[in-house]
Amino acid sequence: MRIVFIGPPGAGKGTQAERMIATYGLAHLSTGDMLRAARDARTEVGQKAEQYMSAGQLVPDDIIVAIIRDRLGEPDCRRGYLLDGFPRTIAQAEALDQMLASEKTPLDVVLELRVPDDELFQRLAGRGRADDKPEVIRQRLVAYRQQTEPLLDYYGKRGLLKTIDGLGTPDDIFERIRAVLGGVAA
Ligand code: ADP
Repeated sequence: MRIVFIGPPGAGKGTQAERMIATYGLAHLSTGDMLRAARDARTEVGQKAEQYMSAGQLVPDDIIVAIIRDRLGEPDCRRGYLLDGFPRTIAQAEALDQMLASEKTPLDVVLELRVPDDELFQRLAGRGRADDKPEVIRQRLVAYRQQTEPLLDYYGKRGLLKTIDGLGTPDDIFERIRAVLGGVAA
């Protein structure tokens, strides 16, 4: 299965992504993790990305698209993958479509994990990552609403979007995801 996983910061995507890759044997392509690794390794890309990440802004599309293009070419992606945190803009989604069309490997499903803003803010405030300062959290939520939410319509129109209620225990939420993916795989 080739899956895109979309949700605002604090929605619990990381927890559910871990369960999905373990259960379905998918490669986990988290752009946030890749960027943090590049930052910590002090690569050129990592140092450039850090300026945006620490401000809660999206890293420029060309940087992210190049990272994903390289990663999708690695052999473990052939067994299926979970794209976590990418695409996050319409331009990124269009670039992804082009890559997948040329390989004739279309997406199977786009999962949206939906959580209301007040709940997100509470969860993020208790987390303590470097970009979890209140003003940076606010900026990340703004970036999500303005730049990423339009993707819901983009994928909805293609009939790929499935929305998952992100309120409840991790087990509850994973059951909802399994129910949806069971229908996709069948
Ligand atoms: P969250 O979903 O909690 O905001 P991520 O770990 O997915 O966290 O991303 C952290 C930061 O990395 C983002 O705020 C952004 O600066 C950068 N980033 C991750 N993925 C992308 C992407 N696809 N496009 C642009 N920037 C990205």
